[in-house]
Amino acid sequence: MCGIVGYIGGKEAKSIVLNGLKRLEYRGYDSSGISTVEEKLIVTSKCKGKISALSSKVDNKNHKGTIGIGHTRWATHGKPNQANAHPHHDQDNKFSLIHNGIIENHFTIKQFLLDKGVVFNSETDSEVLVQFISYLYKEHKLTFFDAVKLALKEVVGAYGILVLCNDEPNKIIAA
Ligand code: GLU
Repeated sequence: MCGIVGYIGGKEAKSIVLNGLKRLEYRGYDSSGISTVEEKLIVTSKCKGKISALSSKVDNKNHKGTIGIGHTRWATHGKPNQANAHPHHDQDNKFSLIHNGIIENHFTIKQFLLDKGVVFNSETDSEVLVQFISYLYKEHKLTFFDAVKLALKEVVGAYGILVLCNDEPNKIIAA
């Protein structure tokens, strides 16, 4: 398990989140990434390797806003590469999630979602969780909070998560 950082406040989030990730480097990691949200637009940058590589990527993207999440990954499910780096998104790009830990029943939930036609972009257990939150949100017309809560009821494993949703861009849900 590696590190997660979240910021919600009055200042620009990207540099605060990046600084937070730098402070977590000592824990070791194989990849990193951040998402920021402003006016319903979630912008994500991620890459394999050092936070310095992430910083240059972040500079080339339009990371605005005063809400952001960041992650350093130590791979447990899936190779250490860019696709498997966090944050992960659902297929509608509505949610962004970072996760430390392991979702033990990810295979069962993934199979359920594949049967519903959900398309995955990574090999991680973590993407399963964000796709599941998104599925429950749409299927049961839930609020952001209730969708995360319901998904976590079904999940077995260890987790620290932060989640963004572009329908409620003034919030981070942490669990
Ligand atoms: N199980 C997740 C993954 O492999 C999270 C690993 C971590 O805690 O960094 O992507």
